[in-house]
Amino acid sequence: MIITIQPTADPKKVKRTLVELGVWADEHVADGRVVLTTNAHSTNIDAKVIEAIEGVASVATKKSPHPLLDAQPRTIEIGAHKIGVDAPRTVIAGPCSVESEDSVRRIAGQLAPLGVSFLRGGAFKPRTSPYAFRGHGDEALRWLARAAHDHGMGLITELMSEYKRDEVAEFADLIQIGSRNMHNYALLEHAAGAKKPIFLKRGMSATVEEWLSSAEYCLMHGAPAVVFCERGIRSFDPSTRNLVDLGAVALVSHVYGQPVIVDPSHGTGRKDLVEPLARAALAAGAHGVMVEAHDRPSDALSDGPQAVSIDTIAAIAAYAKDAP
Ligand code: PEP
Ligand code: MN
Repeated sequence: MIITIQPTADPKKVKRTLVELGVWADEHVADGRVVLTTNAHSTNIDAKVIEAIEGVASVATKKSPHPLLDAQPRTIEIGAHKIGVDAPRTVIAGPCSVESEDSVRRIAGQLAPLGVSFLRGGAFKPRTSPYAFRGHGDEALRWLARAAHDHGMGLITELMSEYKRDEVAEFADLIQIGSRNMHNYALLEHAAGAKKPIFLKRGMSATVEEWLSSAEYCLMHGAPAVVFCERGIRSFDPSTRNLVDLGAVALVSHVYGQPVIVDPSHGTGRKDLVEPLARAALAAGAHGVMVEAHDRPSDALSDGPQAVSIDTIAAIAAYAKDAP
């Protein structure tokens, strides 16, 4: 924001009022007039409130780089389910990867009665090692959809390549774009063309602005809505798999008013930290959590160290239901 001060006003007085509102500004002189430019870490205050301060002549605001996102509803409707500001906290759970039809059906049957509204599971897995289990592909999409829909849950699953867009879109209620692909603009365009809501995971080293811009790509190319998912960013410390950036969650939720989910499973990489981080995420403003769960966590074919039991999902769902 650029705030122009009236020639007769005392800029120090205006600055003091701004600071009381949480707005920090630098003072400059342009064409003999004092102007203030606001610091990026200031509290978001409506320009009209600033215009009303005694001594302020005018306020100029920058055009938003993501107008479609700014206009998207604060609560997203996906079939019978809602995610966002005016919805109950959403619990998404399921295995990292779909291991067999029996296993995903069994897990879905145990999750649905706990209040889990979306089943997650990978049919196509992005694995760091090409030798690791990479999912059962097309047939797993059918297993997932049957397991989710037979139990009244929606389905979230990842789209890894534009070549599989139509297959994934046929079965998924929310199309997941994984962390590694948040910057893959060609994939975002193709995914959006399926005209289904997108579940956009944050790139592991993406800034919040880059994350918001990727969402704008999706909306511009036809996606009806975008739900954000913070899954941890890379940090210098290997003690946890990633660093769950709850500051970014609070910003996206409270300042930008966007629907945001936290994935404490990939965020921490450790089953013992999943529940505490799920609680912290909800306290920070997340509208829900996505958790990797398995009925036999020690046998999970991928991401075993972070797979929690069905009992842990029961505890998280109970907390989410009454979370303030
Ligand atoms: C996943 O959720 O299955 C996944 C691979 O997560 P991420 O893209 O966050 O690594
Ligand atoms: Mn995983």
